Amino acid sequence: MSRKSPRRKPSSSCPCGTGETFNSCCGPLLRRQKEPETAEQLMRSRYAAFVKRNAAYLVYSWLPETQPPDVGELPMEGWAPLEILSTIDGGPDDEVGVVEFRTAYIHADHDHPVHEAGQFVRHEGRWVYSGGAEPS
Ligand SMILES: [Zn+2]
Repeated sequence: MSRKSPRRKPSSSCPCGTGETFNSCCGPLLRRQKEPETAEQLMRSRYAAFVKRNAAYLVYSWLPETQPPDVGELPMEGWAPLEILSTIDGGPDDEVGVVEFRTAYIHADHDHPVHEAGQFVRHEGRWVYSGGAEPS
């Protein structure tokens, strides 16, 4: 007895590493169909935007006052997986949050480790990134 295995479109998993598909995880955020509820979700979606080279979303999700002029340039050639190490506040009812994370990007054939305490604030009611600090 043979049974055909159902043919399914390969689902692409989200680059941010939740194990969800991109379309049920960061996809709707990058398409601005919904806003992240937590600072960690915004952090994950920004990482996915870096991987997907979505400069418009990186600009959108960065506090205008702290945005570097080259935010949309994206010279990175690849990314190591994202590791979320800790979060402080940044919940649906908070106004600020900190997400400590680690990853690395490749540029000019070199690995550039990134380990920072990302700072997140509410801007016009939605979460945005305001910059990175040294992890304590
Ligand atoms: Zn995701």
